[in-house]
Amino acid sequence: MISVFELEEVDPSDIPCPICGSPLSILRRIHRETGELAIMVTCEFCGEYIGFAIKTGLTVEDLKKFIKPRKRPIKKGVAIHGLTY
Ligand SMILES: [Zn+2]
Repeated sequence: MISVFELEEVDPSDIPCPICGSPLSILRRIHRETGELAIMVTCEFCGEYIGFAIKTGLTVEDLKKFIKPRKRPIKKGVAIHGLTY
């Protein structure tokens, strides 16, 4: 696992569909049988690029493990890496 601070935003047009060239969609999914979270990469434009899914090894319940208590509350309206609190 890596820190979110090692990541940077990517323009959707920088990840084009190999068939039609439209921006690929990166979607959240849950496995029907195991409940495991997966990241699905597919093209919602042409329907010809089926794509693939990456298993995260986590369930929704597991996400609670990654909550860290804040030392002090963040002021409302302060934007951090695209998220507004
Ligand atoms: Zn496509």
